[in-house]
Amino acid sequence: MKLLSMKIGGVDRAGIAIRDEMLDVTALWEIIGQKGEWIEAFSESANYRPLDGPYRDAIDLYTRYDDWLHRIVRRLSSDSDVAGRCREWGALRPLDQTNLNPPVIAPGKILAVGLNYAAHAAEQHLQPPEFPLIFSKNVTALTGPGDNIVLPRISTMVDYEAELAVVIGKEARSVSAERALDYVAGYTIMNDVTARDLQKNERQWTRAKGLDTFAPCGPWLVTKDEVPDPHSLDIELRVNGELRQSSNTNDLIFNIPRIIEFVSQDLTLRPGDIISTGTPSGVGVYRQPPVFLKGGERIEITISKIGVLANSVVTQSAPLS
Ligand code: MG
Repeated sequence: MKLLSMKIGGVDRAGIAIRDEMLDVTALWEIIGQKGEWIEAFSESANYRPLDGPYRDAIDLYTRYDDWLHRIVRRLSSDSDVAGRCREWGALRPLDQTNLNPPVIAPGKILAVGLNYAAHAAEQHLQPPEFPLIFSKNVTALTGPGDNIVLPRISTMVDYEAELAVVIGKEARSVSAERALDYVAGYTIMNDVTARDLQKNERQWTRAKGLDTFAPCGPWLVTKDEVPDPHSLDIELRVNGELRQSSNTNDLIFNIPRIIEFVSQDLTLRPGDIISTGTPSGVGVYRQPPVFLKGGERIEITISKIGVLANSVVTQSAPLS
């Protein structure tokens, strides 16, 4: 399933993408509760219970997803009459009219892996690392699909990094690689936006990779059952339609189970935590000549089985204070 987060009338809600439509699960639940006779349409799943508060985002929906909701979604996907009733009542709406949030709107942490594609290490003339190079991105850097990446005033060398991101589904601590995927909810896309001048000039990357809007994420959380092999996905990034990065996750140096095993040693991962797995070759700073992001550009990252994350770049208009 594609679990999504959205903003409806200023309120954060969760939904499910069903082909080119979005099911507002909170609205559906409320409607069924109000229209008792319509429960007949779902008679195969009669154990309806009042909703324990609205679904806030994709990870909230994932952790509270139950058999009843599963049956509803299955019925909606196959029964045009039921789908029609959902449209009539506003619970099923066009996806392209949905204002998407990042799949996890308030992750406890965003971790990322540096130098994790063999070709990306090679373009820097670096040996592949012996163990995963882990860093954090500030959670305040998170921004959603369609939101702007704002060029900061303190950098002139802002760059893109297309990455497959893992979303943790249940608490994990000191798990083995063999069991690691049991703790994964699914996958999404992250752009690990980086200020190369700050990355070079400062001794760690907290600012270089953590400024506001430097963590675009989305468009949704694809549950792991739809991605049986996350290590065979095509990953591409385009700037204004021009292909800049093109690779496959089979080039990852440390695969996802190995990353989770390494990261979780004596460090607790919680539902909604995000691990961005690294970027392939083709970043702007190592192109000849180097190129950096400019206002007005549009970045599209495509990962097979996941979708497209698109963001526009704008310049910061307010002066430094
Ligand atoms: Mg990166």
